[in-house]
Amino acid sequence: MNWAKFLLIAAITASAWAQTSTTSKEVETVYPDAHAFYIDVHRNPELSGHETQTAAKLAARLRSLGYEVTEHVGGTGVVAVLKNGPGPTVMFRTELDALPVEEKTGLAYASTMRTKDDAGRDVPVMHACGHDLHMAAISATAAIMVNSKETWHGTLMLIGQPAEETISGAKAMLADGFLSRFPRPDVVLALHVGNALPAGRVGIVSGVYDTNADSLHITIYGKGGHGASPHTTVDPIVIAARTILALQTIASREVKPGEMVVITVGYIHAGTKNNIIPDQADLGLTVRTYKAEVRKQVLTAITRISKAEAEAAGAAREPSIERYEATDAVYNNPALAQRLRGPLEAAIGKENVVTEDPITASEDFSYFVEQGIPGFYFSLGGANPEKYAQSKAAGTSLPSNHSPLFAPDVDPALHTGIAAEVAVLRNLLSGSADELRKLSARKRKRPTGTTDPTLASAGEWQLPHSLAGECKHGIRHRRCDRRNTGFTQPAGFLVALDKVDLHFRHVAHAQHLVAIKIRLLHRTVVNGDCPCECRAQAVGDGTLALCFCAIGIDDGPAVHS
Ligand SMILES: [Zn+2]
Ligand SMILES: [Zn+2]
Repeated sequence: MNWAKFLLIAAITASAWAQTSTTSKEVETVYPDAHAFYIDVHRNPELSGHETQTAAKLAARLRSLGYEVTEHVGGTGVVAVLKNGPGPTVMFRTELDALPVEEKTGLAYASTMRTKDDAGRDVPVMHACGHDLHMAAISATAAIMVNSKETWHGTLMLIGQPAEETISGAKAMLADGFLSRFPRPDVVLALHVGNALPAGRVGIVSGVYDTNADSLHITIYGKGGHGASPHTTVDPIVIAARTILALQTIASREVKPGEMVVITVGYIHAGTKNNIIPDQADLGLTVRTYKAEVRKQVLTAITRISKAEAEAAGAAREPSIERYEATDAVYNNPALAQRLRGPLEAAIGKENVVTEDPITASEDFSYFVEQGIPGFYFSLGGANPEKYAQSKAAGTSLPSNHSPLFAPDVDPALHTGIAAEVAVLRNLLSGSADELRKLSARKRKRPTGTTDPTLASAGEWQLPHSLAGECKHGIRHRRCDRRNTGFTQPAGFLVALDKVDLHFRHVAHAQHLVAIKIRLLHRTVVNGDCPCECRAQAVGDGTLALCFCAIGIDDGPAVHS
């Protein structure tokens, strides 16, 4: 070890846990229980949308503390409300879900869980994103806020959001009447643990905190044949290879240098045998950007390049490009970020509150902010301070969130998370609601959201994370999906789809009529019927088999800012 490295480690280690004595005493009182909860949840992770045990445990804890708890909000969501006189309403969110990752941390409490995913595959499960730590922190914060009601006034809302990893849980909670069934928050808050900071610290970003995220599925159609007779085929694997490389020129050659663009091809599926040229190749992309105009430019370029590469290879049919998931960047209200720095510094030490650059990940917390509610989302250091300093000195990276090796340094990270949460909540719950309402809200129109009041009241549901597959009819851009809508239509009942929206569908059931409202993204069909004759069929027991258009993005996505 060289001396510079040693001093860096010593400085970081010493600065961790620099909480004021009052805060640390409060935290110590509830910490053992929070830590036990952490270990329990870590050992028993559940996948997105299936967080039944996790949600029940969190709900039971909050209920026993005296919170008014509602379960099953937007699926497995939990909403806990504690009223403490007049004042503002402040919401703090934790996520509930874990990931299909096999834990390789070697920890004594490592997860060994396996389950079936939505596609029926047997998969390992791990809290590889740290949501277990968020839950433990919020349970401790909940207790401290109950024990110190004389230090604040107003309404505290603690929520457990399902399915963050599939960016569908926030949307589902809102669709389930979150804003009308519960007190409307004046401010929404959340944090996220990660290895980009050492445990003991928190990071603040003012303005755009993370990225717009778009998930694309591209199917390239070729002409299959014998691997020894390529001249009789159009090889989709070669088209896919060219397409993948050409897509990387969007960031390097098309978008202005300095703008944030990530295009990752996360999967390629094609072929079954070495001497067969397949018919088609499938690519899965994630696209990340900060700015709405860059997002639009990049998505348009992806479509153009994919089509052009297919055409250059002589493919008879152009590729289908489906944008099946999308979320906007989380926007941190600058006035709020500035206001909350002081209480955070007071609680955990000035040197432990750092200013960060926006991150390249994404979050569906943006859905709450886009309801016109000022939001503040901050980072919680998770890295073991010593390992952090060593990796800095060596120029390497510690395992990131979603890695099988991701293991936050629980004691300092959880202590700091609890102290930070209590600090920001007390600050916001010490003033008036009017004061918070003056913070400029940022209301943005979602690219795909539609709300028809008559239909929304009857129910609202969303595209699944992964689609069941292509329609038998072989119509381009068309896929089949089967979901339980919770409605009991008679079997065999057919309904027409009058509009198509890739991300929101509203289902109503009145007088034996099931209406499905779907908005078309494609400009040329906005005013007409769906060109591929979308229709749905109720097959009994509330299950609705639905064929719908997955619209291409030829005209660019409907992104508004
Ligand atoms: Zn994650
Ligand atoms: Zn996460």
